[in-house]
Amino acid sequence: MKCYDFDLFVIGAGSGGVRAARMASERGMRVAVAEVSRLGGTCVNVGCIPKKLFAYAAQFAEAFQQARGYGWRLAEVAFNWSTLRDNTDAEIERLTSVYRALLVNSGCQLIEGRATITGAHMVSVGARNWSAERIVIATGGWPFVPDVPGREHAITSNDIFSLEHFPKRAVIVGGGYIALELAGIAAGLGTRTRLVYRGELFLRGFDEDIRRITAEEMSKRGVLLNFGCGICAIEKQADGCLLVTFSDGSRELTDCVLYATGRLPNVAGLGLENTSVRQQANGAIVVNEHLQTHEPSIYAIGDVIDRTQLTPVALSEGMQLVRHLLGEEGPRVDYELIPSAVFSQPAIATVGLTEAQARLRYCDVVVYKSSFRALKQTLAGGNERTFMKLLVDHASDRVVGAHMVGSDAAEIIQGIAIALRAGATKRVFDTTLGVHPTSAEEFVTLRKPSNEPFITTDP
Ligand code: FAD
Ligand code: NDP
Repeated sequence: MKCYDFDLFVIGAGSGGVRAARMASERGMRVAVAEVSRLGGTCVNVGCIPKKLFAYAAQFAEAFQQARGYGWRLAEVAFNWSTLRDNTDAEIERLTSVYRALLVNSGCQLIEGRATITGAHMVSVGARNWSAERIVIATGGWPFVPDVPGREHAITSNDIFSLEHFPKRAVIVGGGYIALELAGIAAGLGTRTRLVYRGELFLRGFDEDIRRITAEEMSKRGVLLNFGCGICAIEKQADGCLLVTFSDGSRELTDCVLYATGRLPNVAGLGLENTSVRQQANGAIVVNEHLQTHEPSIYAIGDVIDRTQLTPVALSEGMQLVRHLLGEEGPRVDYELIPSAVFSQPAIATVGLTEAQARLRYCDVVVYKSSFRALKQTLAGGNERTFMKLLVDHASDRVVGAHMVGSDAAEIIQGIAIALRAGATKRVFDTTLGVHPTSAEEFVTLRKPSNEPFITTDP
């Protein structure tokens, strides 16, 4: 029998890598984890965590406004960027040390540096070489920036959380999760924010109503939306400002151009050429149902396989993989009914099929929707509308999609996702009592089917 230094060598200590390494080590495997940067990967360092903390920060601006209608008189409020940045960094530091402790305490050997695969069972980090029975690639993704003249002046989500100064004016390019979230954050923190998207309407792939309503609500909050538009050039001015030329020929001075135009699998320098691992056209590593690559001893999980780029998915893939390697029974990752949220302002949350997808899959789809002004808005004097939508397969009465735009959407959709996974019918929703008074109760009081694009339930 061949003797290896490790049973499992995990490359990348992000969401998926850490979960797989810990679980394997706790079950008796000899595990190494190599990490070139800070432990915790994208989610902890430049993704979910700083983004969500910044989104909370951005919401205070609106909360201060709303507070007046509730009787609060506030002295002049001021925002200090370096406090937010430094406090966030301290929290990230705390989280990375928790990750370190978890890995070390579970018995993993941590190896700092960039790992390169040199053979089917060989990994090198710096000058050292290790052998492993199996290798797991969990190297995540990296922001993609299109080739535009002056792109060297642009930043990405990797940079925004640690800027020296927060920009007074920003142009954000893209129409997906990151562009919307960062536009909401920037506008909330007082930045004059323009979002530029190449298509007719952002959030391609989301339910049509959600896309339209989100555009309307973001405009109300002052985000300037330019659809059907791109950037042709970015020129740095003598005073450090950036002059942006848009595809319609207009020009604008700004302090920051941020590209949120997708993420590509992070495989640079990984040494895949030394293996039989195959990749898709965008670099994503091809794996089978067991997350195994075409090189039998090498597996891949998380963003690098580009199935669904979400932390809970990377975690689940990590767990599925370890169960498989140990010959244990257990569920495979189910890529249907994955709930997700865009932490924009207002937030979007969704689970299941969009109306268009539901109509393709089922003959008769019943649509329920509601748009209303949440109770909190009344005294606050706000005009924000909350929107909810349920899609029901008429034949089986099963709810096949749920979508929401509005406060607490992410918190609300988690429970709805459980109901959908349990196969809940519309009748189950209807016979569930609401929690009153909440916005969430609207999901169990949607009685009248609707085919109208918008319904207003308040006067
Ligand atoms: P990663 O977490 O990216 O980890 C990969 C690790 O591998 C990194 O630490 C990297 O340094 C390391 N590495 C790479 N190459 C090597 C090498 N050769 N040697 C050693 N180490 C290497 N998801 C959500 O579910 N909810 C959210 O709210 C959310 N918000 C996000 C916000 C932003 C701005 C971004 C960018 C992403 C967000 N995501 C969110 C997505 C989520 O962060 C990713 O899906 C998740 O982190 C993927 O985990 P992973 O383990 O595949 O990769
Ligand atoms: P997305 O894939 O969500 O969006 C990319 C956007 O960039 C799309 O609007 C796309 O347009 C546009 N785009 C792509 N290429 C170009 C180009 N060459 N020029 C102009 N525009 C372009 O990627 P993100 O970067 O926003 O996020 C990456 C992933 O990270 C997400 O898909 C998500 O899985 C995950 N994430 C999750 C979050 C969450 O759970 N809250 C938050 C942040 C990220 P088009 O639609 O026309 O192709």
